[in-house]
Amino acid sequence: MYDILTGLLTRSEFHEEARKIILSGENGLALVWFNLDNFKMFNNRFGFDTGDEVLKQISDVLSNVFSGENNLVARFSDDNFVVLTDWLVVELKVDTIQTFLSTLLENAILRLRAGIYFPSDYEDIRASCDKAKIACDSIRKNHSVKSCMFHDGMKKELALQQYILDNLDNAIKNGNIKILYQPIMALSNMKICDTEALARWNDPELGLISPGEFIPTLEKYREIHKLDIYAMRNVCEDLKFRAENNIPVYPVSINLSRLDFELCDIINEIEFSVELNKISRKMLKIEITESTNGEDLDVLNLGIEKLRTLGYEVWLDDFGAGYSSLNVLKDYNFDVIKFDMKFLHNFDIAKSEKAKYIITSNLSMARLMGMQALAEGVETFEQLVYLKSIGFDKAQGYYFGKPMELEKIFGGPTWTRTKNHPVMSRGL
Ligand code: C2E
Ligand code: MG
Ligand code: MG
Repeated sequence: MYDILTGLLTRSEFHEEARKIILSGENGLALVWFNLDNFKMFNNRFGFDTGDEVLKQISDVLSNVFSGENNLVARFSDDNFVVLTDWLVVELKVDTIQTFLSTLLENAILRLRAGIYFPSDYEDIRASCDKAKIACDSIRKNHSVKSCMFHDGMKKELALQQYILDNLDNAIKNGNIKILYQPIMALSNMKICDTEALARWNDPELGLISPGEFIPTLEKYREIHKLDIYAMRNVCEDLKFRAENNIPVYPVSINLSRLDFELCDIINEIEFSVELNKISRKMLKIEITESTNGEDLDVLNLGIEKLRTLGYEVWLDDFGAGYSSLNVLKDYNFDVIKFDMKFLHNFDIAKSEKAKYIITSNLSMARLMGMQALAEGVETFEQLVYLKSIGFDKAQGYYFGKPMELEKIFGGPTWTRTKNHPVMSRGL
């Protein structure tokens, strides 16, 4: 059986053939997993026919470069290609292919990533392929690296990912994931105007697991909506509790993943919780990060517009952290732009004229588009003075306070949740 589009081996055919070659005692073999970055976005932009053409071109190149005895080339799915070849020149060949493709796809924002693993005859071929894939995935976010060898440290990462996936439901049920709040200041009067809800996973076995670990894993395995619904419900309940007890409180911004708009009816979930807890829509702000990994952009755009029509403010999180910032601003409407902390941390504002130009011109752009500007990651008095002097509306950062329990910010009694239900999406 061959892949219909490219004529390459299919996954099962490849497994069978590769198993034979490896078991024949052939030494010095390498498995290479190739994946195209941004392919989904490419398809959306240029159409599926052009996308198919690219896949065919890639398969031709791979077949030419990896030809001869003990070489196998397969397309496992979509834009995932796998090769078995001689390890001796594997890196050189991967380099050659990437150079060739960069000329072929000159105007496209595509990148072919490669993960390399040296298989052994005592290991199952599927496990070997998984390791090549793990190596390939490990450089997904590192755009300056094109290929990577599998190493044992990656196994630990894999084990942690598995733990996160296996334990998410229980962590939610047992209240091991808590929501902390970080104050956001209005620079006009230096008073708290909002807070941001941030999830903390304190695991009985592993201790604190950082959001930097569990959020990407939950996104990768499309489970992130469970966390986001849970966090949103907690926030609504906290707001209700404080309103009922006449304790001061300010609006809360919650972080949504772009995937939430595909994985569940997130707006329906929010609306239900807001009504159930009788809180005003003005009390919830919705943060969405600018990073784009080829999600369904139409679904996202409709979602943002619907939220805004319903009366929720939508904030663009981490502006400036990725490479798509300006396009994101062009394509969607936001009420507030949160300038990523890299704006402050990468340059020494006091000394760098260039840094000032970058910040002030982005700020005036936000103004021209009718958006408010919030600076993240403010850590020093000097940064605060500077941001206020150029006209930022809001600021957030360790200088004002780290994420903490709500009652630590506003006082009032602690409310201990007595029961946490597993998150069932209401639409499912
Ligand atoms: P974010 O939304 O950009 O949140 C700000 C992050 O910066 C938080 O990290 C916060 O603790 C940290 N931070 C705030 N002020 C400062 C500062 O002055 N200096 C430095 N160095 N860091 C500061 P945290 O809590 O580790 O969260 C990381 C990211 O995880 C968040 O970035 C957000 O994107 C994501 N996240 C957290 N909770 C959730 C959630 O419930 N759902 C989703 N989808 N994402 C979440
Ligand atoms: Mg945020
Ligand atoms: Mg942020």
